[in-house]
Amino acid sequence: MFINHEYIQNLLVSAKNVTKEDINKILDKAEKQKGLTHREIALLLQTNDSDQLNRIFQIAGDIKKSIYGNRIVVFAPLYISNYCVNNCKYCGYKRDNDFCRKKLSMEEIEEEVKILEKLGHKRLALEAGEDPINCPIDYILDSIDTIYNTKLDNGTIRRINVNIAATTVENYKKLKEKGIGTYILFQETYHQPTYSDMHPKSLKGDYEYHLTAFDRAMKGSIDDVGGGVLFGLYDYKFEVLSLMLHNEHLENKYGVGFHTISVPRLKKADGMSMEEFPYLVNDDEFKKIVAIIRLAVPFTGLILSTRESLEIRQEVIKYGVSQVSAGSCTGVGGYKEHDMELEVDQFKLDDHRSPMEVLKSLMKHGYIPSYCTACYRNGRTGDRFMKLAKSGEIQHVCQPNAMMTLMEYALDYGDKEFMAMANKVISQELNNIQREDIKTLLVNNLEKLKNGERDLFL
Ligand code: SAM
Repeated sequence: MFINHEYIQNLLVSAKNVTKEDINKILDKAEKQKGLTHREIALLLQTNDSDQLNRIFQIAGDIKKSIYGNRIVVFAPLYISNYCVNNCKYCGYKRDNDFCRKKLSMEEIEEEVKILEKLGHKRLALEAGEDPINCPIDYILDSIDTIYNTKLDNGTIRRINVNIAATTVENYKKLKEKGIGTYILFQETYHQPTYSDMHPKSLKGDYEYHLTAFDRAMKGSIDDVGGGVLFGLYDYKFEVLSLMLHNEHLENKYGVGFHTISVPRLKKADGMSMEEFPYLVNDDEFKKIVAIIRLAVPFTGLILSTRESLEIRQEVIKYGVSQVSAGSCTGVGGYKEHDMELEVDQFKLDDHRSPMEVLKSLMKHGYIPSYCTACYRNGRTGDRFMKLAKSGEIQHVCQPNAMMTLMEYALDYGDKEFMAMANKVISQELNNIQREDIKTLLVNNLEKLKNGERDLFL
């Protein structure tokens, strides 16, 4: 098995006496964006020295800027069913929690999607509990069709990432045929004894089946997968190293590793108390996790959700996060029920701002919020995406695409203040575009958007 517990524990023990020289050498290498070895990652994880940590943050920030520019991709989760046969100790949807379970009908999905489109969203992460009877794969597939077919004025969902339980090669093939973006699955914890403890007597309790889900996804021709760990279940150092080993396994076997890594942190949910979890990750450790992942896998997108507060989100965006959710609900039918305070949430959220507020605040801090979905629609997925990303060529399409989706948002959903902010950001960014051909194309496209055309991308 590619997650060798003894190997990881030994790496961490042998890295305990890390010196300043060790760290400096590693950081000199990290600056070149070549990634890091297991031992180097272990050494970084073991450092607690504030000067060294500051240098880690600074280099992570530089890497982030040089690869992702100032773009931040924005998305929203959509929960369609909270039926669940599992009993995950940390989750509000566990089967022992007694509440009225719900699965959205296709009409209700349409309603939710229209609300999301009205908020300006173009990218969704589809979320569901695991229940082969109440929430079978056909229901998921129909939901995907419904979402893609639901349009409101200029509103349309252009990319659906899917976060559903580990499944079979056959089912992954079906998801691929429906045109999903990334298939996302969190390992929750890579530490097998903790995994068994957290997932008692359930479908999800099979560690190996869960761990090999991306192998089956790849065999089902999904070449775009997103991993993650639920930080707070086990030692974060073990988890970060495991994420790297998992990524490497996919790279070696299928030619491409994680497209994204998510870094959810455990939050309070119904039926659990935070005191039961001895490995909670504090804010400083969380920043360190994000920065070290950024150094270790510079080209892998990093996703942060509204589980985190505004302050933390702003911090870690500097060190590495490239995608954030905005204006999220984690209840089934939550967008409609939001105002009625009726939701049963999977867990509590910390950032309650509307998407427009999130976007404004991003622009205020010098970022370009992006709803771009061009890569996968142009077939730039899997190893084709990674090759372009690593060559640096991707900048020439990502930056203009981000600016075009920002202009679309401003025209269709922004208020006056938003339009003024967007215009300012866009004109500043136009000056930074080096290639004249791209600049001209972009200026023309921005004009076309103002004249009513939509969905222009490179
Ligand atoms: N049922 C699918 C599965 O088993 O992978 C989808 C998962 S669920 C809709 C999305 C994620 O929410 C889970 O993978 C888990 O990491 C996260 N989650 C569950 N309870 C949480 C909590 N209390 N705090 C933070 N995240 C939580």
